[in-house]
Amino acid sequence: MTGIGQRISHIKATLPDGVTLVAVSKFHPAEAIMEAYDAGHRVFGESRANELITKAKTLPGDIEWHFIGHLQTNKVRSIIPHVKCIHSIDSMRLLKLVDSESTRIGQCTDILLQLHVAREETKFGFSPEEFDLLLESRDFDNLAGVRIRGVMGMASNVEDADRIKDDFKAIRACFDRLKKRLADNAACDTVSMGMSHDYHAAIDCGSTMVRIGTTIFGEREY
Ligand SMILES: *Cc1c(COP(=O)(O)O)cnc(C)c1O
Repeated sequence: MTGIGQRISHIKATLPDGVTLVAVSKFHPAEAIMEAYDAGHRVFGESRANELITKAKTLPGDIEWHFIGHLQTNKVRSIIPHVKCIHSIDSMRLLKLVDSESTRIGQCTDILLQLHVAREETKFGFSPEEFDLLLESRDFDNLAGVRIRGVMGMASNVEDADRIKDDFKAIRACFDRLKKRLADNAACDTVSMGMSHDYHAAIDCGSTMVRIGTTIFGEREY
């Protein structure tokens, strides 16, 4: 087995039951993805729409593509047919657009609501306050083309382990409120948090899906 194959197998063997691995392949070539594929992995994450579409068109059809980057509304139509799950729904407008476009092509797209709890890093995502307002909105009850699976978030990029755990706990708490709002719908089961450098802490705080790139594929060349 190749280095990529060995690393991915090792990570999967050490994840607790109930935690899914999204192998983040952004900026890495098709050959690297195929090494992970040949080791039995099928779930991959990309952060740029065009890159995901190009890879999805050329790589095996049983790969489950997850979109994890900021999604511009003008890319929704082209990306929808290729994705299983969008982790980065950061506005009601985007949610409605993904819903209507999925409905138009007869697809049900899994989505996660992106939270912004870290003080730096990204400007995208709902703050916990905005999230609670969203949960109160009626819009939520009229979505036919999407399945709300849960939430996605990132912790602050700091050394302070307590701070990182506080961020992850805040994301998990939002998930718990969402699940309650959806009447404990069984499809609402996903807390996507944890990357190469912090996924152990994320799992300790209730992650069910980790997004790992560098530890599997090595450093990215932008
Ligand atoms: C790039 C990226 C990752 C993976 O990060 P690594 O540090 O390489 O594991 C995870 N989540 C998101 C949203 C990303 O953009």
